[in-house]
Amino acid sequence: MIDRTPYKKKFTKDNIPNWICPSCLNGVLHSSEKHFISEDTGGTKRGWNEEWFDPEMAMLTYTAMFTCTNSKCQESVASSGYGYLEQEYFYNQEGQHDYEYVAYYRPLFFHPTLQIFKIPNEAPESVKKAIENSFSTVLINKSASANQVRIAVECLLTHLKIKQFNVRIGRRRQRLNLHQRIELLPVKYKKIKDICLAIKWLGNAGSHCDEDMKIDDVFDGYDMLSFVLEELFDNKHVHVKKLAKKINTKKGV
Ligand SMILES: [Zn+2]
Repeated sequence: MIDRTPYKKKFTKDNIPNWICPSCLNGVLHSSEKHFISEDTGGTKRGWNEEWFDPEMAMLTYTAMFTCTNSKCQESVASSGYGYLEQEYFYNQEGQHDYEYVAYYRPLFFHPTLQIFKIPNEAPESVKKAIENSFSTVLINKSASANQVRIAVECLLTHLKIKQFNVRIGRRRQRLNLHQRIELLPVKYKKIKDICLAIKWLGNAGSHCDEDMKIDDVFDGYDMLSFVLEELFDNKHVHVKKLAKKINTKKGV
């Protein structure tokens, strides 16, 4: 299962989540003080002069340049997002209960886009493209991301040579919907059929209303899609399956 925590939790500029580098998929991203810029929004700047303004009403905008910790990679990743202040309690030097306001941030954008799960190299380009589109909007437009997961399944079915149209002599060809196409998967794909159907429902929800779509819903889709892709394209799986088939055919080693 994909670790969702780094994409869901708030962070401070001194303690950023373990975002995996999108280039080497090995190092994590870090930032220095001078590469993390945070400013109050216009409304907050004006608000500080008002009596009614409370620090917990403050809104911030950040922009940052992160660098990969892998010395062989050193990728630069730009990010931006928003922040806010939260009251935190601590004991001061006199041992008394005290508080301060701490700025917390949430990201909306990364470039290059973070790779939320590893797409097998052998996956078709059309599928890779749809998944990368999905990754690029997951923090700002969950419905769009869910829709791209559904498109990835459509592209996958085309790659598996599942027909897209019903053609009858003398009639206009009729486009098959995703459900009908999944039902056409041959028996050898039995293991992924139910999972593809579940992803289809998620894509349906993504087409209607953003309010119902939660980041966990999209990540459920990623968990299922990554399983399907591993099942079809992961070298280890393919190798083990071929090996088993060979041994079974020979009825021994
Ligand atoms: Zn890297």
